Amino acid sequence: MRKDHIPIHAKKHVKLALTLNVSVLSKAVIILTILAISLYAILFSTYPAVHDYFHELRHSLMVIPCH
Ligand SMILES: [Zn+2]
Repeated sequence: MRKDHIPIHAKKHVKLALTLNVSVLSKAVIILTILAISLYAILFSTYPAVHDYFHELRHSLMVIPCH
């Protein structure tokens, strides 16, 4: 594979990933934490702006009654 076809941003990302030296387990924990917080915010938040925006989604799932 010729490396001159890799876009500049991809090269920067690879360089950053190699210098950070974060293990796969750490990456998995980070992404699962972000996912859990996002899902909690979408499905269980009572903050009106978030609640109202995802209201139809909550009801379409039929597992989370809110009223
Ligand atoms: Zn509702």
